[in-house]
Amino acid sequence: RSSAEKFEFQAEVSRLMDILINSLYSNKDIFLRELISNASDALDKIRFLSLTDKEVLGEGDTAKLEIQIKLDKEKKILSIRDRGVGMSKEDLIKNLGTIAKSGTSAFVEKMQSGGDLNLIGQFGVGFYSVYLVADYVEVISKHNDDKQYVWESKADGAFAISEDTWNEPLGRGTEIRLHLRDEAKEYLEEDKLKDLVKKYSEFINFPIYLWSTKEVDVEVPADEEETTPETTEEEETEDGEEKKPKTKTIKETTSEWELLNDVKAVWLRSSKEVTDEEYSKFYHTLAKDFSDDKPMAWSHFTAEGDVEFKALLFVPPKAPHDLYESYYNNNKSNLKLYVRRVFISDEFDDLLPKYLSFLKGIVDSDTLPLNVSREMLQQHSSLKTIKKKLIRKALDMIRKLAEEDPDEYSNKDKTDEEKGEMEEKKGQYAKFWNEFGKSIKLGIIEDATNRNRLAKLLRFESTKSDGKLASLDEYISRMRPGQKDIFYITGSSKEQLEKSPFLERLTKKNYEVIFFTDPVDEYLMQYLMDYEDKKFQNVSKEGLKLGKDSKLKDLKESFKELTDWWKKALETENVDSVKISNRLHNTPCVVVTSKYGWSANMEKIMQAQTL
Ligand code: ADP
Ligand code: MG
Repeated sequence: RSSAEKFEFQAEVSRLMDILINSLYSNKDIFLRELISNASDALDKIRFLSLTDKEVLGEGDTAKLEIQIKLDKEKKILSIRDRGVGMSKEDLIKNLGTIAKSGTSAFVEKMQSGGDLNLIGQFGVGFYSVYLVADYVEVISKHNDDKQYVWESKADGAFAISEDTWNEPLGRGTEIRLHLRDEAKEYLEEDKLKDLVKKYSEFINFPIYLWSTKEVDVEVPADEEETTPETTEEEETEDGEEKKPKTKTIKETTSEWELLNDVKAVWLRSSKEVTDEEYSKFYHTLAKDFSDDKPMAWSHFTAEGDVEFKALLFVPPKAPHDLYESYYNNNKSNLKLYVRRVFISDEFDDLLPKYLSFLKGIVDSDTLPLNVSREMLQQHSSLKTIKKKLIRKALDMIRKLAEEDPDEYSNKDKTDEEKGEMEEKKGQYAKFWNEFGKSIKLGIIEDATNRNRLAKLLRFESTKSDGKLASLDEYISRMRPGQKDIFYITGSSKEQLEKSPFLERLTKKNYEVIFFTDPVDEYLMQYLMDYEDKKFQNVSKEGLKLGKDSKLKDLKESFKELTDWWKKALETENVDSVKISNRLHNTPCVVVTSKYGWSANMEKIMQAQTL
C-alpha cells in the first residue's frame, strides 16, 4: 500500500526472526499458545482498566472479553482475535519490532547454542513465533485512544504500518492474521486447533471460541418424485390417524462459535479436587514455561482471618535464565495478583521478598479493594500480612521437598517400606538445591526473621559428606564430644580446600569441616552467626579452639623468644601477632586472618570485583 509507513526491525529482532523462519524445529505448535497468551494478557489489561472506568469496555460485542479463532481454508489464513486493550500505532511500532526486549539477545544466543525454542515465551518474544508457521503476518489493532491500524511483515527485515480503512472495524482489540506456509497446512484443521487449545491453553481465564463448521442432519420435505428409501421416512402416529408429510434428511454444513475451554480458576477449587496433572498444566500456562518438566512442588492454600486470600505457589522445574543476573535490580515477584478473580498485576513488588522471586504463582484476595489504582493497592496494609503468610507457606513447601526425599538425612530413620513409598521423590531436594540453593543463601542474608528456618534448608559439602549434600542438622548430629563450634572453610573449590593446611589437625582429630565454595558464601557467613546455639568458626581465622590443650600454655612460654623474633622480622603493619597454635599437624606454620577481618578468600573475591 502506498500510504503505508515502513520501519526496519531492530537488529536483534531481525536476527530472531531469521532464526525462526529458517527453523527446522518440529514443534511449531507453540505459536498458538503464544498468541492466546498475548490475547489473554490484553484482556486482563482492559478488564483491569474497567475497574476504575467502566466506559473503557464499550458496548455490545466490544464489551465481551473473549478470544476468537477463525480459519479461512481457501486463503490459508488463520486468525486470532481478542477484545483486549489493543495497540495504538505507537504501541505497534514499539512492541512489535523496534524496541528489543532484554530477553531478545539472550534468546538468540540460546538458540544459536541449540537451546529449546519451546521456551520462547519466557524470554518475552513469544509473538515472533508466528513466523514458524507463517510467511506473512498482519496485525490489525484498535486501541481506545487511537484509530485502527494494520501492522504487516513478511519477516524480510522490515514491517509496515497503515491506517486501516478496508477491514471491518474491530471495536477494540487485536486480530492477528497468519498467512500460513504450505508446510503449516495442518493448522487449517479445526481438530488440530481444538487439540492444541486443550493441550496448552486450557487454563486461560477467558473463553476461547473456534468458528467451527459442522455437518448436521436437517429434515426437509421430501421431493415427491424422489424415492430414495434411506432418506425417506414415513411416520405414523400411534393412532394411525394422520400421515405426516414425507420428509428426508440431508447433510448441511453450518458454522458456529464453539467454546474450547471451560474457564475455571484452579486456585478457587478445593485442592482435593485438582489433580496433579491439572496443577502441572496450570503451572505451564501461568509461567509460560512449556518445557516437559513438571513443577518441583506446589502449595495451594486458603488463608483465613483478617486478610483472606487463596494462593497457589509453584517451585519451577528449573531456574530461569536470568534469575541471578537481574537479581539486584529487579524487585518484581513472579506472582500474579488477583482481587476477586480479576487480574490486577504481575508486577507487584513486595508480594514476596526478592530471594523468593524464583517462585511462580497466583494470589487472589477478597479483602483488597477492587476499584482503586495499582499504586493505592500497593500500599494497602493487607499486603504485609499476605506477604508474611506467603513466605511461611513457601518455606514450608521447600522444607517438604526435603522431608519427602529418601536421600535426605532427616529421613535416615525411616523404615524400608516408608522409603519405598518415597522412592519417586529420591534426589528431589538435591535438584532443588542445584537450581535454587543460591536463593536460600540470599534469603539467609536478607531475611533476619526467617533466618533460622532458611538455615535449616541450607546444604553443603564437607569433609565428611562423602560427595553428597549435608545439612546443618546432620553436621550437628556428627559433632565430636566437647565440640562447641561449627567449623567451616571458604575457598574457590572443594579440591583446593581439601589440601588446605588449615584442615590438617581438624581432620586428624575427626572434626567435620564445611566447604563453602560459592562467592556468596562469604557474605552468607557474615550473617549466619549461629545455628541451634552453636557458633560458626572459620577455621582459617583466629579463634579456633579445639578443646583444652594443657601443653599449649607451656609451649607458648618456651617459644616466646621465637614468636617475638618472627613478629619483628615480619614488621608490625603486616601481621597482628605471631602465636603458637595447635591447629596444624604437618605444616610448620600458616597465615591466619583475624577474627573480624576478611578471610583470604574474601580478599580474593573483593579483588576480583574491583578489577
Ligand atoms: P510478551 O507477551 O512476553 O510481552 P510477546 O512477544 O508475546 O512478548 O509480545 C510483545 C508485546 O506485544 C506484548 O508485550 C504486548 O505489548 C504486545 N502484544 C502482543 N499481542 C498483543 C495483543 N493481542 N493485544 C495487545 N498487545 C499485544
Ligand atoms: Mg507473549
